[in-house]
Amino acid sequence: MIDIQKIRTEFPILKQKVNGKPLVYFDNAATSQKPQIVIDSIVNYYTTFNANIHRGVHTLSQKATNAFEEARVKLQKHFNAKKNYEIILTAGTTHSINIVATGFTSLLKKGDEIIVSALEHHSNIVPWQMLCERTGAILKVIPMNEEGELQLDIYEKLLSEKTKLVFVNHVSNALGTINPIKKIIDKAHHIGAAVLIDGAQSSAHIKTDVQALDVDFYVASAHKMCGPTGVGILYGKEKWLHKLPPYQGGGEMIKQVTFEKTTYADLPYKFEAGTPNIAGVIAFGTAIDYINNLGFDNIAAYEDELLQYATKKLLQIEGLKIYGTSKTKTAVISFNIEGIHPYDIGVIIDKLGIAVRTGHHCAQPIMDFYKIPGTVRASFAFYNTFEEIDLLYEAIIKAKTMLS
Ligand SMILES: *Cc1c(COP(=O)(O)O)cnc(C)c1O
Repeated sequence: MIDIQKIRTEFPILKQKVNGKPLVYFDNAATSQKPQIVIDSIVNYYTTFNANIHRGVHTLSQKATNAFEEARVKLQKHFNAKKNYEIILTAGTTHSINIVATGFTSLLKKGDEIIVSALEHHSNIVPWQMLCERTGAILKVIPMNEEGELQLDIYEKLLSEKTKLVFVNHVSNALGTINPIKKIIDKAHHIGAAVLIDGAQSSAHIKTDVQALDVDFYVASAHKMCGPTGVGILYGKEKWLHKLPPYQGGGEMIKQVTFEKTTYADLPYKFEAGTPNIAGVIAFGTAIDYINNLGFDNIAAYEDELLQYATKKLLQIEGLKIYGTSKTKTAVISFNIEGIHPYDIGVIIDKLGIAVRTGHHCAQPIMDFYKIPGTVRASFAFYNTFEEIDLLYEAIIKAKTMLS
């Protein structure tokens, strides 16, 4: 069980007022808030053992290296990777996807096909379009239906011996749909294609086991999991990480450099050129411990209660339509009110202390599907409360009265 009052005291930002009202933070799908223990871990690193890693013989450098590599092992255990060097530490999901998409340049040829879904964030669309431009490969799209679910029967028809790679998110950031990724992976493997799963939106709500999924690549960002911004992971199966060339050249990623020939470092360092976000990686490890201590089952159960409560409550508002009505959803409600621009609702309820996201949520194809400019998105985390949802309800009613 979740002790919500205790949890809320652990997040200092939640204590403040915004525009004179207690902050109600419902923009968790964009980034989560950080508990004090994560903030402390960043401060502690810079205060007591800041040093560059992997090179120094001195004590601080060894301490920093140990803490950095311990965080990698925490991530390995959390996502259940077979080897710690299958966890590449990156700047986040977008960076991780670009490492793979750029690496595939030498592995694809003209006429090869790669498959994306209609439910993706721009981060999981644009790098692949750039890959197609470089290689002449063709991008195919798994369509969605009115509920915001992927049409798997059409996916199966898209798969052929030409398909080399499939990349879909586990959870849609714009609608909250949980996609059936195990099925998607198995079907791709059946015809010999590799699969990348974008876990940026799911990783804070659903515990992922990369070996059980048998996924080839999995990417996520720390900042949506109570960790800091600018840090993330690329998990890759060892055989794939050997196949992909390095993404960036520089220090840390080499074995030996001469002007005639440079040899690359072993995994994971081959993909970790330059000084990484050391404090961020260590704090990511702390965030992983924090959410595991709460327990993913507890988090999912509580967030689902929030989702059910909010869905019922908001649907009482006349003219309000929810986009994304899949039976399998995380705690995201994307909605519009008839005749009112989503942006206007966002601005008014911000004055009442409520933070929601408005716009296309970096997922324009989904908005095009529904033929809307955007939505208002309220996305919940385990530190939100039923009372806050009541405040949202009242704020929307107020905004509606003012705008119509
Ligand atoms: C947030 C998000 C991204 C992008 O993550 P960054 O941390 O901005 O790189 C990609 N995909 C999904 C589904 C997301 O929710």
